[in-house]
Amino acid sequence: MKLKCGFEWHVQLDTNKLFCSCPSLLIDKDKDIEIKRRFKASLGESGKADITASFEEGKARDVIYEAPVEASCLVEADEEPPHEINKEALKIALEMSNALNCKIFDEIIFMRKVIIDGSNTSGFQRTALIAIDGSFKVKDKNIGIATINLEEDSARRLGSNLNVAKFKLDRLGIPLVEIATELIETDEEELKEIAEEFGRFTRLFKVKRGIGTIRQDVNLSIEGGSRVELKGFQDIRHMDRVIVNEAERQKSLLKLINDRGYLSQNLNSINNKGLNQILSSTKSELIIRGIKSDKLVLGIGFKNFKGIFGYKLCEGKRFGSEVSDYLKALFGAGIIHSDELPAYGISLDDVRKVKEELNLGEDDAFLITIIKKEEKERAIDSILNRIRSLLASVPTEVRAVNEDNTSSFLRPIGGKDRMYIETDLPIVEVEKDLLKEAEKFKGFSTESLKSKYGLNDDTLNLLIKAKKLDLALKLNLELKLDFNTIKKVLVEDLTYVRHKLSLDLDENAAIDILKQIADGTITKEASAPILERMALNEFKSADEAIKKVNLRKLYKDELKKEILPIIKSGKLNENDIIISLKQKVGPRFDYNEAISVIQTLNGKKGNN
Ligand SMILES: [Zn+2]
Repeated sequence: MKLKCGFEWHVQLDTNKLFCSCPSLLIDKDKDIEIKRRFKASLGESGKADITASFEEGKARDVIYEAPVEASCLVEADEEPPHEINKEALKIALEMSNALNCKIFDEIIFMRKVIIDGSNTSGFQRTALIAIDGSFKVKDKNIGIATINLEEDSARRLGSNLNVAKFKLDRLGIPLVEIATELIETDEEELKEIAEEFGRFTRLFKVKRGIGTIRQDVNLSIEGGSRVELKGFQDIRHMDRVIVNEAERQKSLLKLINDRGYLSQNLNSINNKGLNQILSSTKSELIIRGIKSDKLVLGIGFKNFKGIFGYKLCEGKRFGSEVSDYLKALFGAGIIHSDELPAYGISLDDVRKVKEELNLGEDDAFLITIIKKEEKERAIDSILNRIRSLLASVPTEVRAVNEDNTSSFLRPIGGKDRMYIETDLPIVEVEKDLLKEAEKFKGFSTESLKSKYGLNDDTLNLLIKAKKLDLALKLNLELKLDFNTIKKVLVEDLTYVRHKLSLDLDENAAIDILKQIADGTITKEASAPILERMALNEFKSADEAIKKVNLRKLYKDELKKEILPIIKSGKLNENDIIISLKQKVGPRFDYNEAISVIQTLNGKKGNN
């Protein structure tokens, strides 16, 4: 299917928080401190309130924060201004910007983006534009990178109902790099490939790993449709399914608008009635519960609307669901529509009574919703506005991805009205050294790494998985060691020791060993036995271990002295000689060096 899509990736960095020195850790234990707040929409720089903010304000609920002391302080609680920006996070953002061939700004200005769903204690998210205009290559396709922002992650949502939203402050303030692509002309298969390739790319940097550490939003429009932002892909393996469903939903809606969009004129004269009386003897538990809790069972009739609410948009979604999801987001109550009845305990007889009450005929339809009495007018307005906008065009909105690969209305798309300048932070002038340092990452990618360093996929993946790629690159540069040796000692040997002894050994021990290998003091085969003994605390340093255990690499002369008697004993085959040598001196020789000595000795012998 032909699509126009854009990605927005949010990547958590593996550093401390962006504006304080708290560690970026998620804490899973009971609350220490609880903070209660309530939010109001404030005007943006343009003098207008943001549509999203106004929407959230309409919900008027309390927000409760759990504040674990291990991973939050007064900054997260918004009781103290932000501290100076985390330089390490900025450095990583600059590295990524360079790797994505972007134009980088040398001044960074933090803005406040109004968000009052409670996910930020301050009522805004701090975000700064770092770079623009880059590119990212997937196979032979160039993906345009529009913007790169450095921003703070939001608080972790623990749950919410109509009256209270609950969050934890541990995630708030974790540095995020937000990368937004230009619109890409693509299809659902390729879209998935791009997402996967981008995932591999980010792991070349110091970023967090695991579920929730890269979050991606996809905005999508089909021809004639509108921009819809899909948020919260849990699993990119099903991304293609979600995209296809959304494209289908937009297509079907466009068809409906074309065929029956004129019906929106009927919305000017709708009939509504309280149904508490006439449905007082229904078998529907849902309605009885509503009546008992003194709510209004509201019926709204729609002339000539038969079939509209039951109209299928995509697998699992009907026109009615679109109205229902919208109302749920606003009031916590969904709708029941006549196209799906009888159901939910509502009988044919109930349907007949409702139709009579609302004065409806064969071609008409009705909705039932159960709300607080005082919400009646607002609910009717919301329902009518929703139907009107659905019958006019595909509504531009943010939709949450559901587990069944469909999506539901989440909120309107925020605009520029939600941005204003962060006055608690100075303009950050990026230091020349930092810019220069990050420039080394120009064109950095898995492909460039492989070709530049002769790395194969296995070694690269292993180093990435073990989060040792930075270190390996550094050691390769400083020690002039090949990646196979580095990978063996830094990843394989450390893992071997950890599994064998169930002891964790500091990576400094491995670095120590690599230095000795680079100096020619030991061979890489000697690394595991030395690391083992260091893990057992027998020795404090590689140096001490090498001296005491006698694992020093043999000099060429010594190697000759060991090999000569083996040859004299009648062994001429190189492999046989190596096996005997190993039995005699263990890992104290380099294979290639030994072969060269054997060949020289054999040659000499031949000459004699
Ligand atoms: Zn903090």
